[in-house]
Amino acid sequence: MSNSSFSNGVLRWFDQHGRKHLPWQQNINPYRVWLSEIMLQQTQVTTVIPYFERFTERFPDVRRLAAAPVDDVLHLWTGLGYYARARNLHQCAKAVVEHYDGEFPSSVEALSALPGIGRSTAGAIVSIAFGQRAAILDGNVKRVLARYYAVPGWPGKTAVLNELWTYAEQHTPKKRCADYTQAMMDLGATLCTRSRPACDLCPLHDGCIARAQGDVSAYPGKKPKTEKPVKAVQFLMLRNPHGDIMLNQRPATGIWGGLWSFPELPLDSCALTHTEQHYGPVAEQEVWDSYRHTFSHYHLDITPVLAQLTREPEQVAEGPASVWCSPRQPGSLGLAAPVKRLLASLADLDPRR
Ligand code: SF4
Repeated sequence: MSNSSFSNGVLRWFDQHGRKHLPWQQNINPYRVWLSEIMLQQTQVTTVIPYFERFTERFPDVRRLAAAPVDDVLHLWTGLGYYARARNLHQCAKAVVEHYDGEFPSSVEALSALPGIGRSTAGAIVSIAFGQRAAILDGNVKRVLARYYAVPGWPGKTAVLNELWTYAEQHTPKKRCADYTQAMMDLGATLCTRSRPACDLCPLHDGCIARAQGDVSAYPGKKPKTEKPVKAVQFLMLRNPHGDIMLNQRPATGIWGGLWSFPELPLDSCALTHTEQHYGPVAEQEVWDSYRHTFSHYHLDITPVLAQLTREPEQVAEGPASVWCSPRQPGSLGLAAPVKRLLASLADLDPRR
């Protein structure tokens, strides 16, 4: 299949079957395209839609987002995961306001230099928002091209990635670039799916090597398996006599950077001794069942420990910022998913609040 018949086939399919009513496909501008592209990284369309709508209602443009406290941004992001994306989003908005007077630049090079924007996201913004020719290679497009050309190997490897970029560049048409970009993302998301792709309906059916080989599931190659390390911590859920729970703000970098969480202790430390030494006498302590939270690079085994303090602890001048909050109404704090879940369990324990 020539380059033009590849792109023409994809565009014809898009005209008939592509998605055209997603929220970010309405009132298209660079801000909305950028926001949707960041949210869609590692996240399904159906999950992203309500987040996108809440975000654009609260922050209708890049200036409003840049001016917002990072806590408000993290709070609205709660539940979407990969929080580095939210922090970069905020940093990027500030950079656009500071260096580009609130207007996103229109070249792949300038966009790629901004926080959190990689080559593919930059390509999507340039093609969809500015209507200029630029290739993309997100997870969906990688899958389509890896199968179409039967490219062996895991796309996380530079050589494999470079080969896929060559194909992506080669097929991106000069005309209707925005539609082509959207079409390739749709094709990967709706037809060339991870398992059981609908090859019979695919406009690339005739030229697809993996399909001809009857070995579609071999592409793209899987990431080589490595055992994830396991870390274990105790979460100290300190409850004061009013029933409020203490949360600390985590450092800006590292896991759950900038989010609010419980004080942590290594698993082999005595929670009771630590709590009494640092926060005062404990009337009652409960150790809850441990559970596992898995990050992309390790497992975290969490043992929650609830300590009922007999009196309000004194304010500690040093250490991380801390707040006491009602578990039922933690306010607009950015919370990691496991912390949110534990606060909900604490709220259920105390129906008065
Ligand atoms: S023919 Fe099948 S495997 Fe090949 S690109 Fe289309 S859906 Fe994917």
